[in-house]
Amino acid sequence: MTAPFLSLAQIRNRLTLTARTILRQHRPGRDGRCPVCRLPHCPAATTAQHFLATIRRTSDGVEVQQRGTATGPLARNRNEPW
Ligand SMILES: [Zn+2]
Repeated sequence: MTAPFLSLAQIRNRLTLTARTILRQHRPGRDGRCPVCRLPHCPAATTAQHFLATIRRTSDGVEVQQRGTATGPLARNRNEPW
């Protein structure tokens, strides 16, 4: 499957899953720093949080989140607020 044939919803779903992956990988450690970037306020995690907040504010965002939770291993973790 190639990108030009994806619907807008599919592209948005992929971006959402990517943002969640970024948040998992860039979650601050015990010292409050990102384990990847080694920064206290990771710009990648901040951008991913802003993207997910924007998606939630849109009416179609609800549909995207519901699809995201139905994917099994990528289902939302209760410890992750996003
Ligand atoms: Zn980071």
